[in-house]
Amino acid sequence: MIFDLSEKLALVTGASRGLGLEMARGLLHAGARVILHGRDQAALDAAAAALDPTGARVLTWRLDLSAPDAFAPAVEALVAAHGPVDILVNNAGARARGRLDDLPLGEIRSLIEVDLVAPLHLSRLLARHMRPGGRIINITSIAGMIARSGDAAYTAAKGGLAGLTRALAAELGERGITVNAVAPGFFATDANAEMVADADIAHWLARRTSLGRWGKPEEIAGAVVFLASPAASYITGHLLPVDGGYLAHF
Ligand code: NAP
Repeated sequence: MIFDLSEKLALVTGASRGLGLEMARGLLHAGARVILHGRDQAALDAAAAALDPTGARVLTWRLDLSAPDAFAPAVEALVAAHGPVDILVNNAGARARGRLDDLPLGEIRSLIEVDLVAPLHLSRLLARHMRPGGRIINITSIAGMIARSGDAAYTAAKGGLAGLTRALAAELGERGITVNAVAPGFFATDANAEMVADADIAHWLARRTSLGRWGKPEEIAGAVVFLASPAASYITGHLLPVDGGYLAHF
């Protein structure tokens, strides 16, 4: 029973596809009711129907994370309709690659807005309603821990999200809420389809990671379910890489 999430309500941002959808599937299988969040209602409806054809345990929530002024009324309406969220997974993320001189300031700002400001603002709004035992799980990246050329905005946002995880853990611990982060490595999601099809990258990844391959999207779910579950009740402020050994491999 230490991984049992029945009676819990989980909200996963960016759950219309990719890793977020697999996190939602994992939380659902562990017993939680799950709210899938995104911007595209048709995609959310299709994902919800695929996860739970009965419609009893999967809900959807549409909110553009680049418009923070809309968050407070949207959160109040969500909580009024479905009750307090027990597990918040800040997964949604924007991406912008480019070397320093090629990244427009507007793109840097909108990436930071979605990948860092939105998790902070959403966390504080939802935490106000959370009961003791509440969980916040931020999805960072190994790019928040190590860096490569041409990725400054994303690296800064994910590094900031790792810091935010510790800050929220420090502040929300007194309310019995734990806050942790999961840092994915290289996962074969649709967003990475071009890279996944590239034989040179596959060859490089085969040598660079201990497990020698891309992560399968469903392989992210276990870490999130674990951190959301009673098994992780004394873990907070922690960052858990799920990277096939990328960070450990030399
Ligand atoms: P993805 O397939 O591109 O999915 C991104 C999700 O975020 C979608 O559901 C999208 O929903 C939502 N989203 C994006 N911008 C939004 C906005 N402004 N407002 C509301 N929702 C928004 O991404 P993924 O590959 O699954 O990655 C998920 C998370 O893991 C991200 O935080 C990413 O940085 C992190 N990560 C991924 C990898 C990887 O290898 N895939 C590695 C490290 C870290 P709509 O488009 O429907 O709105």
